[in-house]
Amino acid sequence: MKKILFVTSEAHPLIKTGGLADVSGSLPKALAEAGADVRLIMPKYQAIKTTEEIYYKSTVRVNETDANILETRLPGAQVLVWLVDCPEYFNFPGNPYVDEQGNAWENSAGRFALFCRIAVEVAMDRGYLDWTPGIVHCNDWQSGLVPALLSLEANRPATVFTIHNMAYQGIFPRSAQASLNLPKELWNPDGIEFNGMLSFIKGGLAYADRITTVSPTYAGEIQTAEFGYGLEGLLSYRNDVLTGIINGIDADQWDPLTDPQIDEHYNVSTLSKKQLNKAALQKKLSLPIDDVPIFALISRLVEQKGIDLILECLPEMLSLPLQFILLGRGDKHFEQQLTDVAKTYPDKTAFTIGYDETLAHLFEAGADIFLMPSRFEPCGLNQLYSQRYGTVPIVRKTGGLADTVVDALPETLGNNTATGFVFKDATSGALMEAIKRALIVYSQAKTWKQLQISGMQKDYSWNKSAKEYMALYEQLN
Ligand code: ADP
Repeated sequence: MKKILFVTSEAHPLIKTGGLADVSGSLPKALAEAGADVRLIMPKYQAIKTTEEIYYKSTVRVNETDANILETRLPGAQVLVWLVDCPEYFNFPGNPYVDEQGNAWENSAGRFALFCRIAVEVAMDRGYLDWTPGIVHCNDWQSGLVPALLSLEANRPATVFTIHNMAYQGIFPRSAQASLNLPKELWNPDGIEFNGMLSFIKGGLAYADRITTVSPTYAGEIQTAEFGYGLEGLLSYRNDVLTGIINGIDADQWDPLTDPQIDEHYNVSTLSKKQLNKAALQKKLSLPIDDVPIFALISRLVEQKGIDLILECLPEMLSLPLQFILLGRGDKHFEQQLTDVAKTYPDKTAFTIGYDETLAHLFEAGADIFLMPSRFEPCGLNQLYSQRYGTVPIVRKTGGLADTVVDALPETLGNNTATGFVFKDATSGALMEAIKRALIVYSQAKTWKQLQISGMQKDYSWNKSAKEYMALYEQLN
């Protein structure tokens, strides 16, 4: 049986800031179903929430610091989770990356270097857990030092590093290298040094046996200057070990037929019931219960997600017969600008600045159209949830969005393969044009219904992608 140590900085439902948590909470379950013995390892943050019991397993000392390893399970699943408990680093309110005020943790490098060191001890079976993985699967920069440190070990497990977002690299001043007491052998331009700085992500990109990212299109994009952030050369050089595997979704949690968080359950045969969810959502958000289309957006409010394009479109959009609902938090200037617009159009907008998992489900069930005008999008999950819920996505042609949404054109509408609207240029004009196209099709009830059904019938579960990961592990040992 394949033994896989899955190293991550967040996993739903224990703790979540974005898509990485969704993947870490669902891919290991799918791998377990595909016959692997998977264990997760992640930091024990103060904000972790669980209904499962947590047991003390062992204490491991690294770099003159003691950390406890606690054992629990992914809530509602059999997958074992090891929590790295080191209160001086992790026992604070806030999320994995920022404090309660939204400022990045000052000691981020120290926090994740310690986490990586403990993961290495566990990977080498020096964590007193009596378990040796064949594969260590790392995710994003927070785990980047693991492949680098493991490269120095004899008889080490194979390593896989998955890029969920190249825009976050874990870059710290040169002085961090010394203060973290990292092995000198790793400090060179082919290693974890990047323009004289310490780069955590390079630890993964330079040393992992295999690199993956979360969509085939993004795998190509990150080998270009626009999306590679200075690492496109290294990624092209390692092109032979780099593949794109599209993310799946947790098909149990995101299923309109069983979702416990929504008002009315539905599937393709009972799609008209979606209307009841729409009315309930309008009521909840104090919007008029009209039959105008509801456009929705759920997102981190950051430039990556094209929030500026939305802001530019809003005056024209809101002159049309539609409602626009938004759920998100992020950059303060976006939060402020959006709040100001909402005040001017109280009957057409309902903007919730915050993070609310339940509301996200209600949006997917009740909205008609989902906006995702990302400047770049490694995979993106909401366009997948939207398709499952018959909420037609409008997306920019980039990364995983390009791989998962089929544009509604005469031909694709004719052969029932269309699932949404795709636009190319990152401009408000191109977005507005897609919005208008969507409104035209929305007014043609029969065509619209077919568009919804084509999206709902697509299989975005982990079955296929988990098999691709298993095949990749298979090549390694
Ligand atoms: P990213 O990881 O870049 O933020 P993804 O589309 O891959 O983007 O994943 C985002 C996940 O986080 C989705 O599950 C989405 O529903 C969720 N999400 C983002 N913002 C919020 C919010 N404000 N409230 C609830 N869920 C949110």
